[in-house]
Amino acid sequence: MSQHRRPLIAGNWKMNGLRESAMQLARAVADGAEAGRGAGADLLVCPPASLVVTLSEMLAGTRVTVGGQDCYPEESGAHTGDVSAEMLADAGASYVIVGHSERRTDHGETDEVVRAKAEAAHRAGLCAIVCIGETEAERNAGGTLEVVEGQLNAGQPADADATNTVIAYEPVWAIGTGRTPTVAQVSEIHEFLRNALAAIRPHLQAMRIIYGGSMKPDNARELLAVRDVDGGLIGGASLDAEDFLVIAESVP
Ligand code: PEP
Repeated sequence: MSQHRRPLIAGNWKMNGLRESAMQLARAVADGAEAGRGAGADLLVCPPASLVVTLSEMLAGTRVTVGGQDCYPEESGAHTGDVSAEMLADAGASYVIVGHSERRTDHGETDEVVRAKAEAAHRAGLCAIVCIGETEAERNAGGTLEVVEGQLNAGQPADADATNTVIAYEPVWAIGTGRTPTVAQVSEIHEFLRNALAAIRPHLQAMRIIYGGSMKPDNARELLAVRDVDGGLIGGASLDAEDFLVIAESVP
């Protein structure tokens, strides 16, 4: 972890949470943050879109910020069921996840769509968390570096910089499975990604690259200690405030 890049610990709640339980969870995270837990990192929770307003209002003035899990590329219009980046910003979000593998799989999102969503996030003043990662078949075929480099290049808006974009490296086979790459593998990919960012534009090497995929209290310390890992995107473990806070405290 570099001294120059402030770690980000982000919870992706996915399609979980009704008002009461979500408020309890967010309150417990904010209380922990208030008590100084995870003080070495930026803390973010990404609830379902239905809860962004409620949690943004509730968490205002705390160290915990709120993000969306997806946005539509356009600002408004005839797109039934979709939420624009402007709407998320208006609801109080400061980040939005784009290109999560579940969106790529469930909704057929391509790198071009992901880039358009990241551009929309920037247009609305949100920081985009752009997710990339290989499938197990791609890894087994030896294609990991090629896949993540392709996604990184194709998903990167021209105006991306270290303040408006975060890369989340999430091997698809590690999401929700309890399996993680080895520390050496994570280190290799993150270093590769940082060099690839620098090759796009030198200043992009300052961008945060966070790791996601079955990060838990018992493996967070070793994963977050990897030099080019600047935080975590946490799914399942972010639904338990104590687990999320322990992960945040594991930042070196
Ligand atoms: C995710 O969905 O972004 C994720 C990392 O999930 P999990 O932590 O549950 O593997």
